[in-house]
Amino acid sequence: IMTTSSLTFQPVLDRIAAEIEKTPERGRPADYIPALAACDPRRFGMAVAEPDGTVYGVGDWRQPFSAQSITKVFTLALDLAREGDALWEHVGREPSGNPFNSLVQLEYENGIPRNPFINAGALVVTDRLQTQTGDAAETLLAFLRAESGNDELTINERVAASESAHGDRNAALGHFMASYGNIGNPVPVLLNQYFRQCSVEASCADLALATGFLARHGIRADGTRLLSSSQSKQVNAIMLTCGTYDAAGDFAYRVGLPGKSGVGGGIIAVVPGHCTLCVWSPGLDERGNSVSGVAALDRFTTLTGLSVF
Ligand code: GLN
Repeated sequence: IMTTSSLTFQPVLDRIAAEIEKTPERGRPADYIPALAACDPRRFGMAVAEPDGTVYGVGDWRQPFSAQSITKVFTLALDLAREGDALWEHVGREPSGNPFNSLVQLEYENGIPRNPFINAGALVVTDRLQTQTGDAAETLLAFLRAESGNDELTINERVAASESAHGDRNAALGHFMASYGNIGNPVPVLLNQYFRQCSVEASCADLALATGFLARHGIRADGTRLLSSSQSKQVNAIMLTCGTYDAAGDFAYRVGLPGKSGVGGGIIAVVPGHCTLCVWSPGLDERGNSVSGVAALDRFTTLTGLSVF
């Protein structure tokens, strides 16, 4: 076990990257859209950001990648900041135990999705943020740019178009929930916002920094408050229990941190009060989580002793 002094992060990251490099099993990139299928599963990057904005990294940590479902954390926080607990009348907070794009539970629970991090729940959150702001995806983008300090962070419109062309499942989720009155905007408007949200491109450095408010108990990079410390705790709790879909139990067991994955191969994680992490490697396991990403976070908490347990 090492001390938590920042001086120790770089050697830890270097050691993890060297270990990952030697690992033969790296998973397979998501293949539901061509833009993601083309990624090399051997790529790997990892960044750690301290609450004061100091950031350490290794490998491809400055390479932008498709953030995908990682963005669900930020839209949740942005909507909670605006409408508070009213959101919870429209989406639950229980792990689903089902794949991220599952439809089955909605019929039994009146169109109220289990949690904000499966696709159905994320669609509800984006719908509500759209109503609050008039442009959910641009609100998200502005937030990520401000928190990361990177004005070049963008939405990849080619990926968004590809998401839309292969978006039948998400369209079905949107229409199904709309039939229960749980979607406020026209479904095509919502889907356009959601596909653009998924298509945000950011690096490990960007996303580790943008997650910082969850290590600072709700405080943004500029010192203003986004969430109350209680809300920040709540978002971290939902990440722990729901952030890696039907693998959340195994992720908590191995890593011991609130985390959120995306099918682009990224995972963000939070050590409240200490630091935030983002790791990227495009090869996924069968539940849609980055194989090397989970392995690297597992090694990080083992080597540093930093975890919420
Ligand atoms: N764009 C993907 C989808 O909605 C995001 C899913 C994910 O990252 N798990 O299917």
